[in-house]
Amino acid sequence: MNLWDATLESKPAERESLKKTEEVDVAIIGAGFTGLWSAFHLLTNNPGLKVAIVEKERVGFGASGRNGGWVSAFYPSEIGADSVIPLLIRSIDEIGSFASEFAPESNFRKGGSLAIARNKGQLKRLKADLGSATLLNQSETLSKVEFNGALGSLFTPNCATIHPGRFVRALADHVEQLGARIYEKSPALRNSDHKVTTHTGALIANTVISATEAFAKGSRERVPLYSLMVATEPISEKIWDEIGLRNGESFAEASHLVTYGQRTVDDRLAVGGRGAPYLFGSLLRSAAENNSKVHDQIITMVREWFPPLANTQFTHRWGGAVSVTRDWQPFANLNRTTGQAKAGGYVGDGVTLSYLAAKTLADLILDNGSELTKLPFVNHSVPLWEPEPFRWVGVNSVVKLIGLADREEAFTNQPSLIAKSLSRVTGN
Ligand SMILES: Cc1cc2nc3c(=O)[nH]c(=O)nc-3n(C[C@H](O)[C@H](O)[C@H](O)COP(=O)(O)OP(=O)(O)OC[C@H]3O[C@@H](n4cnc5c(N)ncnc54)[C@H](O)[C@@H]3O)c2cc1C
Repeated sequence: MNLWDATLESKPAERESLKKTEEVDVAIIGAGFTGLWSAFHLLTNNPGLKVAIVEKERVGFGASGRNGGWVSAFYPSEIGADSVIPLLIRSIDEIGSFASEFAPESNFRKGGSLAIARNKGQLKRLKADLGSATLLNQSETLSKVEFNGALGSLFTPNCATIHPGRFVRALADHVEQLGARIYEKSPALRNSDHKVTTHTGALIANTVISATEAFAKGSRERVPLYSLMVATEPISEKIWDEIGLRNGESFAEASHLVTYGQRTVDDRLAVGGRGAPYLFGSLLRSAAENNSKVHDQIITMVREWFPPLANTQFTHRWGGAVSVTRDWQPFANLNRTTGQAKAGGYVGDGVTLSYLAAKTLADLILDNGSELTKLPFVNHSVPLWEPEPFRWVGVNSVVKLIGLADREEAFTNQPSLIAKSLSRVTGN
């Protein structure tokens, strides 16, 4: 079981499945952050709407209930980033307001975030990517976190952490209070002509939102990539005094292979990383969430970062899939003729971005002329990934090369040339 499910405050509600044909204004497929925030924004703007969600498993079954809990202003693409990032920064505070009113148990904590360089190549890249973040020198970095080998870091105040499992359940409870209906164990089998059909019922709707992210089957718009996490047992105060992170800062090594960590509400360390292989045909397999080789690599890395954890037990291992578009750009799209809407393609940065994309979708559906409907990810035409086997070869080669880029950087102490040429291939 993942850490977040294992540390819920109470047993989550089990909801009934859809057992009839229901007419609604908006039907939503998927009860993760995208689906739930869509319901939230629709009903907050127009409390009279009839909104129903079908979820194939349980609320928060997907990435929304398993992630690293970073509520960040990261945007996966440089295209349009200037207009989207300020709105993401504002969204962090809006999520914080929601949390303090309706999800206090999710421990929303805005402690900022550190990207930490452990070699000169990483440090040079951080200096070049400064943006609005603050560059901390070695001693300033170590005063925040005793990160083995740290040479410096970038600090941004624009990041919070949450317990995602508690947050997503509280959000679901809240949208029900706003009037939405959520049906669990109700996989959408068919979605066409304004009708979503499950095994035992159907929703007939003016608009249907697909909020299935990495689970979007048979689509070449997105590929699922696994991100894996580990968590320690609760760590003693003595060790935390040595490590730091006193303000609840989230942190990552400034490597090319994505890593992310947070100090949890119950004083564990939860850390994740990418690098697991892509499965042929964009398959999703629960075995891939428990890749012991990748989990062991993450544990070795965490012990290298934090030597005081040499004897600390790692009690939880889990994973989930993020979804990556071919051009690394997310989307929030509505086709008024077919009534089909969808949002996703967050490339692993979806906690805040799903809030903004869902708010945008709600504005599109309500046709209220909001500024959000002009954002660059709106009605974005998503290019298709290559057919197999080229996709499998290409994606796994990129995953391997990213790991190699980190080794190159550590060896040469210069920003990686492999990474530079990869960004030309991936277009981001
Ligand atoms: C391990 C991990 C760590 C991450 N860490 C972070 C982080 O720290 N910060 C960050 O910003 N992002 C992070 N992400 C990404 C982030 O969690 C996602 O981008 C975000 O949660 C996506 O939300 P979603 O609602 O679009 O998708 P999901 O949460 O995946 O929800 C999709 C839902 O659709 C349901 N579904 C699928 N098919 C059907 C169907 N046919 N019928 C009915 N229901 C269906 C699924 O069961 C699922 O519940 C991480 C992801 C993972 C996996």
